[in-house]
Formats: sequence, C-alpha cells, structure tokens
Amino acid sequence: MAQVQFFSGESVPLEMHKVRVVQKLSLLPVWERQKRIAEAGNNTFLLKNRDIFLDMLTDSGVNAMSDRQMAAMMIADDSYAGSETFFRLEQKLHEIFGMDYFLPTHQGRAAENILAETYVRPGTVIPMNFHFTTTKAHITRLGGRVEELIIDEGLITSHSHPFKGNVDLNKLRECIERNGAENIPFIRIEAGTNLIGGQPISLENIEAVSKIAHELGIILLMDASLLQDNLFFMHEREPRCKGMSIRQITRAVADQFDIIYFSARKFGFGRGGGICIRNRKDYEKMRELVTVFEGFLTYGGMSVREMEAITVGLDETMDEQIVAQGPQFIEFMVNEFIKNGVPVVTPAGGLGCHVNAREFLPHLNSHDYPAAALACAAYIAGGIRGMERGTLSEQREPDGTEPAAAVELLRLAVPRRVFTLSQIKYAIDRIVWLHRHRELIGGLRFIEEPRVLRFFFGKLEPTSDWQLRLAEQYDKDFPNSL
Ligand SMILES: *Cc1c(COP(=O)(O)O)cnc(C)c1O
Repeated sequence: MAQVQFFSGESVPLEMHKVRVVQKLSLLPVWERQKRIAEAGNNTFLLKNRDIFLDMLTDSGVNAMSDRQMAAMMIADDSYAGSETFFRLEQKLHEIFGMDYFLPTHQGRAAENILAETYVRPGTVIPMNFHFTTTKAHITRLGGRVEELIIDEGLITSHSHPFKGNVDLNKLRECIERNGAENIPFIRIEAGTNLIGGQPISLENIEAVSKIAHELGIILLMDASLLQDNLFFMHEREPRCKGMSIRQITRAVADQFDIIYFSARKFGFGRGGGICIRNRKDYEKMRELVTVFEGFLTYGGMSVREMEAITVGLDETMDEQIVAQGPQFIEFMVNEFIKNGVPVVTPAGGLGCHVNAREFLPHLNSHDYPAAALACAAYIAGGIRGMERGTLSEQREPDGTEPAAAVELLRLAVPRRVFTLSQIKYAIDRIVWLHRHRELIGGLRFIEEPRVLRFFFGKLEPTSDWQLRLAEQYDKDFPNSL
C-alpha cells in the first residue's frame, strides 16, 4: 500500500496488490434491504451473508489471503504429532519475536483460557490498558479482576492523541501499590486497543511499563491480536520508529515482554492463535492445558493448512506496504467523513472506522439504541453491515436497569486486503447521505431480549415507521441506482 498524490492534488491510498480470485457480491434493491433487516430482527448479526453487499462487521477471520499463503497451504504436513508445518510456524514466531517457546491454540480466546487457568486465582488483579470482551470473561470467570489504566485521552472520542492506547503510568504505580505486586500475576498490554477504536500504544510507553513491571518482578504480557496495525502506527507516528523497519520495531516491542499471545484470525492473515513465552517452567504448565483443551502440541486445534498460511502471513506482516493497507483505507474513510461533517472517532485507528452514533443521532437517547439504529440504517442505505458498539452490547444490571454505554459507536470494520477503494467510497457516500437525512432515523426497542450476550441473538423493532420513510427517501434521491 502506498499513499500517492494524484495530479488533481487528491491523496489516495493505492493498492499494492492485484485481485486474482474473486467472490461475487449482490446488492439488493433498497426495498429488499428494508425487508431483510426487519426479518433479521434489526440485528446485523442475524443478517444472511448473501443479502449483504459490504460486510464490515469484523476483521476477524475474514482477511484476504495472498497467493503465497494459498500455495503454502498445499505443502502442509498433515500429521497429528511432529508435523513439519508446526516447526515452520514455531521457527517463524521465534524469528520475529525472539521467544523460546510456542504453544498453538485454535483461536485467541483459547490462548486467553490457557493463560487465565495458569495465572488467575480468586482475588488476583490484572492491570491493563483496556479490556477486551473475551479476555475479561476468562479473568472474571476465575475470580480475578480487571483494572483499566488507559490514559484519559483514550476515552475522548475526538481527542487527537497519536497513541490513545497508552497506559497511564501514574495510574499503574498507584494500582500496584494499592493491590500489592504479589496479587498481580501479570500486567496485560493490548496492542491496537480494540474496544476504543483500534487505537495504538507507543513503543516508549511499552518500555516504561516494562521497566515498572520488571523492577517488581511482575510478568508483562501482550495481546498481539491487533499488533499489525499498531506496528504501522509506531512507524508512522513515533519519531524514533521512522528509521526502523517493521521487523526491527516488532523485535523492539517483543523484547519488552515475557509472554505474547495472539488471535491469528487477525494477526497473520489466517485462522488460529497461540502463545509465545520465555519461561520454561510456565511453558510446561501451559503445555498440559493445551493438550487438554486444544489438541496435541504440534497443532493445538488448528488445521495444518491454516498454520502454513499463518507462517507466510507473519512474514507478510513484516512488510511495510502490506501492513499499511488497512490503516490507510481507514484513514481515507475518516478524512472523508470529517470533510462531510460525519462524526467519527479520531485519529484514525486500525481495525475499522468508528462512527460516533451519539453525535450522529442527537435526537435519540441511549435506550433507543442509536448505534444499533444507525447499523440498520447503514444496511438499508447501502447493504453495508457494521457492528453496534454501544448500549445494546452492554448487559442489564441484576435489577433490570440498563446502563448507558460510555460511547455509542457504529464500527465499520475494514478487513485487510478485501475491499477496493470504489467499494470504500460507496460505503462513505451512503453514510454521508444518511447523515444528511439523520432526522429520519428513529430508535429501536427489543421484542426478544436474551439474558446473556443479547447483542448476538436479540430481536428488535423500530419504534416508528422510520425505516419505511428512509427507504422512500432513498428511492427519491437515487431513482436509478441500487
Ligand atoms: C479478536 C480478539 C481476541 C480474541 O480472539 P479470537 O480469535 O476471536 O478468539 C482477543 N483480543 C483481541 C484484542 C482481539 O481483537
């Protein structure tokens, strides 16, 4: 990926790959879209893929593979134990992270399960920059507690801080003092902080956290699931990283940690996961859990074909032009939205573009589920599937009251290497159109509300006939276009 200047003066992200295998998409007419979202209970998780034009739900397990990855899958060594494929992956991880041991798992949360089983006990505290849903679930399941120590700027959606995923070092010192180092089995750093909009952490901040942790003998662990984008941002935004290659930055980051785990559904352009670790004793403890929960040590629940693809994908992750693609598309979206007055999380992060639904729909309150309503509107306006990240994703209190989420976001994920710029432009155009007609967008209410993880399976209905009026307006404005 390269950022090029057009003769017109426009700056455009240019794909440094060509498409050689394609999947046909369909774009249904607006009235069909309006019907399908109603049938899906106004929940984008319940839409069928065949009814979707641009699937921007997530970046997990949907990144495009390269010709080299596909070729490598053909030479996968299919054996239960001692597979050559495993040794190639282990060697590649050793090469980029410099850690001695590697344990394979079937995906990221499986690595979190093994780590939590190894280190978390009732009463232990895990300080971190910010939580991720599955991470927190494993820690609390075992009686541990999470403390989030992100810098204050991290939670201000429009703040321009270049590293909003940084740890507040004073909060960290205070947290350790209050809880006692002996009650902290590890400190967790999440690269490319997912739930605050794919915002990065700086190398300088990681080094400072590492110093504090290691002076007190506390293990420092990284969730590297979104490290790819974070490496790109270090290279772009941190002066000392400008002259370094992505491979050098990766090693400088890894050198600060005792353990690195990842979801290969994002990191490595594949599907799988794993844990890299320096300490032999802890490795041996976890080895037993891997064989119980995941599979034998030379596959850990992954298919050997995926493991070959990850090995090549990790090499591609060390290529500056390749890792630039996601962030540069996202930055393009963010810039276009800002130009057109659409409120978004800034600066542009990794993973996706996050539209601020609370500001987009000021006439709705949190209990009208503005982010979910905007997700439905985006589907009606363009066959675009995004993900609600707001009040609907929260759980009710035991007494039935519903806490309002701190932020109401519509996440438009940008799977790596998947979309072309004209598709991205279409998505931008339809969201800008929605913004011009934002007063037409109304709220949603539950008709079926599951008790747990209600955002996955819950069904809702519009609180008025606003979706019909939105489709009518679309028909009027785009009489000759899908
Ligand atoms: C996706 C993700 C996970 C979980 O990985 P899965 O492969 O989906 O189980 C953990 N941490 C972060 C930061 C993630 O983005």
